[in-house]
Amino acid sequence: MPRQHIQQTTQVLVVGAGSAGVAAAVTAAESGAQTLLVEASGHVGGTLARQLLEHSAGFHDTAGNQVTGGVGQRIVTLLREYGGTPGHIPDDVAYTASRTPVNHAELSMCEAILLRRAGVRLLLHTAVVDVGTGADGRTVQEVTAETPGHGRITIRPAVVVDCSGDAVVFALAGAAFQDDQLRATQPASLLLKLGGVDFGPLLEYARAHPDDFRPGSRFGEASNDHLNMWGFGKLLARGHDKGVLSWPRTELHLAGWPSRGEAVLNLTRTRTAPGDLGGGEVYLQLAQQVMEAVAWFREYVPGGRRAYLADVADRTGVRESRRILGRATLTRDDVVGARRAADSIGQGAFPIDIHDAAAAGLSHTESVPTSYDIPYSILVARDITNLLAAGRCVSTTHEANGSVRITATCFTTGEAAGAAAALAVRDRATTGTADTVSANIGPDADSVDVGSIDVAELQALLRSRGAIGAR
Ligand SMILES: Cc1cc2nc3c(=O)[nH]c(=O)nc-3n(C[C@H](O)[C@H](O)[C@H](O)COP(=O)(O)OP(=O)(O)OC[C@H]3O[C@@H](n4cnc5c(N)ncnc54)[C@H](O)[C@@H]3O)c2cc1C
Repeated sequence: MPRQHIQQTTQVLVVGAGSAGVAAAVTAAESGAQTLLVEASGHVGGTLARQLLEHSAGFHDTAGNQVTGGVGQRIVTLLREYGGTPGHIPDDVAYTASRTPVNHAELSMCEAILLRRAGVRLLLHTAVVDVGTGADGRTVQEVTAETPGHGRITIRPAVVVDCSGDAVVFALAGAAFQDDQLRATQPASLLLKLGGVDFGPLLEYARAHPDDFRPGSRFGEASNDHLNMWGFGKLLARGHDKGVLSWPRTELHLAGWPSRGEAVLNLTRTRTAPGDLGGGEVYLQLAQQVMEAVAWFREYVPGGRRAYLADVADRTGVRESRRILGRATLTRDDVVGARRAADSIGQGAFPIDIHDAAAAGLSHTESVPTSYDIPYSILVARDITNLLAAGRCVSTTHEANGSVRITATCFTTGEAAGAAAALAVRDRATTGTADTVSANIGPDADSVDVGSIDVAELQALLRSRGAIGAR
């Protein structure tokens, strides 16, 4: 018997359950919109949770002023109640004012709790594979997703918030993208987590060789809950000399939970070419590097003898892929110049952090002296009226993306996009005819324009939710 084709309607469709998508869905639902969240993998939390990131970064500016509040802060607060984070702690390598270590599994569970409390409908293992636009191409009418149980389903949303990291909905809708990425896309990495690390000897080595670590580093105690180390160049050189490590690196980043004997290593790295996003070849190269890194750590790093591979990122970590062409584009000058924006929905302050695929170290780090505004217009599709982006794929230049892509800022743009989507849907309902008002669950994508919402009202809504910098 042929399988029945399932069709769903929703007011707000959020695609991707990473940092931006969780914030967007929670906010849209809490702001009164019927909200559906679809996620290709079997879990929520995205890159931060499942690619084992060292910590969530970007909650404070260099002076220690908090720049991310709202849902991002609520997630940290809930996670802290469960013991899954110490909260915001000083950055012991002096790169930024604060960092926010997270236990990845507990983070994912806490985000799920918030989604449930907000009343978000969630579809896991559901990948968006096609988008149908209106005749003039200016609205997203239908989104097709592949599910394990029901094959292809069709979703008819009033507004779509693309939080897929790769701007999948924009691509499938034929939208335009920034074109500066082909010259200098960031490299891909596969983060790994070690267990069985003895931090006593490791910290003794660090204290005896401070020049092997980033200037300004503070080395904690083996009894500490968390520490952050950046360097290891001399030990890496030994690994290269002996042929244990096959790719060039002059530094690595280690985020440790000493009392648990755990350490996340950010060390592997390879180039990607456009179109490599899901590339198996890249993964195979990085998998080889992961095993070389474990062997090197056991052999050359003091305290590493009993280390074992406890976990590995669930997919290749892509720092930068497609960036949308929005109604405005955030540039490097906006970021380092602390540019103010009348339509600000929040702030960022993380340094411009650009990794070079070919070089052995960071290619470019530029400090951001104070916070900059994030304009609402960088979330809004230029040519499609019912489509927003949030997270790392918002409308920025390559350089500005080096700051905006950080997870605290992804929470901020996600929250703003979710709130804007809810307001756009409500505006449609209240400005429509009596029929459309009464039928406001049956969405009508043609009547929604996320670019025409009252930005002052959006900013007030965000401030009432604890967001920071929505003027
Ligand atoms: C190696 C590496 C190290 C990093 N280190 C740090 C760090 O230490 N601290 C920090 O704050 N940031 C760090 N970053 C940056 C940061 O992790 C990302 O920019 C950020 O997590 C992006 O969040 P997001 O919500 O935009 O996307 P993601 O968290 O990537 O979420 C996107 C979600 O969309 C889903 N999806 C994709 N396509 C589809 C589809 N077709 N249908 C349905 N769902 C889909 C994905 O499965 C995923 O769950 C690092 C990034 C990398 C790659």
